[in-house]
Amino acid sequence: MNTQTLKVDKGVDNHHSYQQTVDCLRNGGLVAFPTETVYGLGALATDPNATKRIFEAKGRPSDNPLIVHIGTKEEVNTYAAEIPESALLLMEAFWPGPLTLIFNEKPGVIAESVTVGLGTVGLRMPDHPVALKLLRLLGGPLAAPSANRSGKPSPTRASHVARDLDGRIPFILDGGATGVGVESTVIDMTSNPPAILRPGGITVDMIEAVIGPVRSETRVEESDAPRAPGMKYMHYSPDAPVWLIEPDRTQIEQAVKVLKDEGKKVAVIGPDELKTDKSSWYFATGAYADPSQLASNLYDVLRKCDETEADVILAVEAPPEGMGIAVMNRLKKAADGKRFSM
Ligand code: AMP
Ligand code: MG
Repeated sequence: MNTQTLKVDKGVDNHHSYQQTVDCLRNGGLVAFPTETVYGLGALATDPNATKRIFEAKGRPSDNPLIVHIGTKEEVNTYAAEIPESALLLMEAFWPGPLTLIFNEKPGVIAESVTVGLGTVGLRMPDHPVALKLLRLLGGPLAAPSANRSGKPSPTRASHVARDLDGRIPFILDGGATGVGVESTVIDMTSNPPAILRPGGITVDMIEAVIGPVRSETRVEESDAPRAPGMKYMHYSPDAPVWLIEPDRTQIEQAVKVLKDEGKKVAVIGPDELKTDKSSWYFATGAYADPSQLASNLYDVLRKCDETEADVILAVEAPPEGMGIAVMNRLKKAADGKRFSM
């Protein structure tokens, strides 16, 4: 299969690009498209053959459910069996935006491969002009996980999608780099109180300011038991092993020395202010105190590490608050729990 990348910048006449991709989706094909979090790999969520192709293209385990993207808030009524008052408040406050709400599903509407027989459906209205235009022209729901090969860092640029999925999907809509950089927050509205299953672009504090206390094991230390179906799988892994390290210059420089003495080439991912010339590569990700900068750069720098000859990647921990929680959730998975200490 030949993969075509179609640029949909504001300046160009992109009517034909949208038409081609909508036709492709209506015929059961796959289209990668930008959202405000990461690039998604979309298929018509009501078409079982189309949604199965997502799992094939990504190499995704079939028991990991997909988030359904919608273009209007009203569509929730079509897919959710009941909508709690607190869900309406969250939709009002954060949609369009990086928040996925889990509802009990209306049976027989969304393809079973999307909900993997859970009886629930995860819905989100993305805040990106390209995603919203595609959804509105299509006039239907898009099941869309991140558009990467399963296990790799999520894509935040069209070139990341091409690197992972070239030859495996027909179209990539290129709308430039995404903004938030980590995936949506997932909150289960079928439990009482609602439970955060995955930290993301909307923080726990923002949610609690609207609907009061929620359950969140991710606020402090994550429990080991997987709370959402996808949590047990390998995630966000570059080629070289990742080790977390505390935000301390002496620790970092000592770790680099130890690893170099073992003959290893070291890449460090860390904040601007801890930049050191002791490692072979240092990928600076913005100010330590503003983890949203790290969120926005994280997957790009993890992928950049793959372009180096690094044998080991040291990733400096983010502050455990605000967007730092979402970032640390991804970094811990990338490191498979490994932390460098001497
Ligand atoms: P991804 O598409 O890779 O961003 O992953 C989507 C994640 O959303 C899954 O791994 C689940 O954790 C979660 N999710 C999606 N739909 C459901 C659902 N119906 N019930 C519980 N979790 C869900
Ligand atoms: Mg993903």
